Amino acid sequence: MKTVRHWINGALADGDPRTSELYNPANGEVAGHVTMASAADVDAAVAAATAAFPAWRDSSLVKRSQVLFRFRELMHAHRDELAALISAEHGKVHSDALGEVARGLEVVEFACGIPHLLKGGFSEGVSTRVDSYSIRQPLGVVAGITPFNFPAMVPMWMYPIAIACGNAFVLKPSEKDPSASLLMARLWQEAGLPDGVFNVVQGDKVAVDRLLEHPDVRAVSFVGSTPIAKYVYERGTAHGKRVQALGGAKNHMLVLPDADLDLVADSAVSAGFGSAGERCMAISVVLAVDPVGDELVQKIVERVERLVIGPGDNPESQMGPLVTEAHRDKVASYLDLGVEEGAKLVVDGRESEVLGGGKASEAKGFWLGPTVLDHVPAGSRTHIDEIFGPVLSIVRVGSYEEGLELINGGLYGNGTAIFTNDGGAARRFQNEVEVGMVGINVPIPVPMAFYSFGGWKASLFGDTHVHGTEGVHFYTRGKVVTSRWLDPSHGGVNLGFPTNR
Ligand code: NAD
Repeated sequence: MKTVRHWINGALADGDPRTSELYNPANGEVAGHVTMASAADVDAAVAAATAAFPAWRDSSLVKRSQVLFRFRELMHAHRDELAALISAEHGKVHSDALGEVARGLEVVEFACGIPHLLKGGFSEGVSTRVDSYSIRQPLGVVAGITPFNFPAMVPMWMYPIAIACGNAFVLKPSEKDPSASLLMARLWQEAGLPDGVFNVVQGDKVAVDRLLEHPDVRAVSFVGSTPIAKYVYERGTAHGKRVQALGGAKNHMLVLPDADLDLVADSAVSAGFGSAGERCMAISVVLAVDPVGDELVQKIVERVERLVIGPGDNPESQMGPLVTEAHRDKVASYLDLGVEEGAKLVVDGRESEVLGGGKASEAKGFWLGPTVLDHVPAGSRTHIDEIFGPVLSIVRVGSYEEGLELINGGLYGNGTAIFTNDGGAARRFQNEVEVGMVGINVPIPVPMAFYSFGGWKASLFGDTHVHGTEGVHFYTRGKVVTSRWLDPSHGGVNLGFPTNR
């Protein structure tokens, strides 16, 4: 049975003997173990990164960019291997895992352009024979703490840009699916990244707390649930670090009566049940504006009943299991709660057939099929809690305004979508909705790598979104130089505040 270890200074590393179990969610069996870092193990990784930083910072932009190009090619060549590792530990189907690798690679491709992205400004003659210019410099050692649901893509939102900017990186991946991190580390080494610039510490709160307190860690990027994001932000900033902490979500799709209901149904089912709903950009609530509710629910149900549920490595499967037994049980508890709160259970995921496994509620592994709850009361827990599983709630609303109010009244502000053929309504929505990422007839509006990803309200603590130019900004500090080369016009002592002449 495998044991997933740390990666420190270009080599696998052991440390504290504490381990945690790794599962195959498709059959529920223990598939291996992961080493859990102590504070001393984190210190070893940060020390390696600290030692590697000065030489990497001083390497030329072109050299850094060439390493990134090679890393991009290697990741692309190993995408199937990476997807298989993700699928085995997370449970998502292989094609979905390949999709996350592809979206992560777009950030690497963006970071290949670092010589252009780090160009500063230059103003000749801000005062008589005085020039001014701005430069951006790396921070030093920076850390990334990532969730289970995208074990390759979310770290790739962070480290390509951090490393391209000249920083050294310590990744603390989710302890539920840590294997992808080690393949990525090996490929960085093969690409020519100097040892110590990219390190991985496996673990849990012990490792996170040490990263948040370590005096040599300059910045922390976090993605995960809202309570932990808030904690990481508060503790990290209290220790003087720059922190961006992305939290949870509850994403609504507002369906206006003029929308194409076949497109809406396809989109709601794809965005609700892809990756078993374990996506921070999943659509978990459909707000159906009267009178489309009944027809839309019928179209959604028809599609849901055709979905194929099965192990991630079976090419026929469209949806895999949930990540752990405890998470599956928590998600499943919302089926009864929803009914208690007054919703109608129109598709019960406990009854779904699992390929080769029988009924979801009886199959070995962490199964729950796609579930649809209709007439979910607005403001009920089923409506507002982040369930993070294959449960799609339909809330009936009387108007655009009522739907907008429910979205804007929510705790989270990660993603949302409007479905309509009315350009004026769509434009009004993009202006009025209090959410960071908005789709217009697009159900999962994940920004491309050259834009930045991030939500509003309890979906983001800090003010900088990840990747794109905001990512470059997060991983660098600005400096402005004002220079004068002495010449005969040198004017002698002047105690007044410098103004231009
Ligand atoms: P999580 O918050 O449980 O874990 C995230 C990371 O924090 C992991 O590395 C974990 O080891 C660590 N952690 C867990 N408990 C901790 C504690 N008490 N103290 C310190 N560190 C701790 O999240 P998860 O279950 O792995 O991921 C799912 C969550 O992530 C969902 O809420 C989802 O919405 C969110 N998510 C958000 C985004 C986004 O972009 N906003 C993207 C992906 C996932």
